[in-house]
Amino acid sequence: MNHSCLTCRPGADRAVDYERNVVNLPKHFRGPPASGNGGIATGLYACLGAHFLDDKVNQLQVRLHQPIPLVRDLDFSERHLDAASVEIAVSVDSEIILSGWASSNTKASVMDEETIRTLQKHVSLTDEQQHRFDSYEEAKSPSSADFAECFVCGPESQMGLRLRLRPITDEIFWQSWHPESRWEDAGTLAYLPAIAALDCTSAVGFHLAGVLGDHESCLLGTYDAVLASPPAFGAREGFRIVSKTRERVGRKILTDIGLFSAEGEIHIVGKATWIVVSPEVAKGA
Ligand SMILES: [Zn+2]
Ligand SMILES: [Zn+2]
Repeated sequence: MNHSCLTCRPGADRAVDYERNVVNLPKHFRGPPASGNGGIATGLYACLGAHFLDDKVNQLQVRLHQPIPLVRDLDFSERHLDAASVEIAVSVDSEIILSGWASSNTKASVMDEETIRTLQKHVSLTDEQQHRFDSYEEAKSPSSADFAECFVCGPESQMGLRLRLRPITDEIFWQSWHPESRWEDAGTLAYLPAIAALDCTSAVGFHLAGVLGDHESCLLGTYDAVLASPPAFGAREGFRIVSKTRERVGRKILTDIGLFSAEGEIHIVGKATWIVVSPEVAKGA
């Protein structure tokens, strides 16, 4: 399909070049110090899917196989699975970096209805929840310094989103978000930052919630997202990001997270699978 978006138009945030058939992540799209952000990697699939499919992308799934090189041309290749779905691989020197698919269909829900309702219910805060949010002081984690400039969560990322969710109940993490105008794409919030915003934001509370130990960190393994409705840009009230950790099973942690309008409209729901690693591995040592 004839396709253009913030991810593939020339500009500081371009990450796909269809003329040269390459993915190339600029430096500010980092997660760990020397490799790409997993949420950005997932967001790429919204652009790649829209490029290869006839209809808009409604669902995608991405698996991260190894650290994503920054500022380097990566190849991508596609294979149609059916009329509405395409499988896409991103690789370097024939080594797979990312695999996954995008589809115009919604194949299966990424979380149960009850979880969606729970996230949605917390779009607006009670006074008590607002107080808990306002008075929260985040403790440092073993990876705080390594991820200080992460595009999504890094407090020191000059060109980043700087999103840090905070607990509003014992289970729910929350943040309101007013994206800067740079992220507007034809009247909506561009999918690259919108999907990326649901990445490490879901992991910020792992130590507090006790799913990560003092000497543990984690890396994104897979990410499933349903693009439920386009996030209209410019609402004064902004967006809400709401997250809940599902469970840790061995070295895997599952989280549910959503991007909503301030009124509770569901824009994107995501399920992330995190892999527990040492802080050294997380940073890419
Ligand atoms: Zn695009
Ligand atoms: Zn991060």
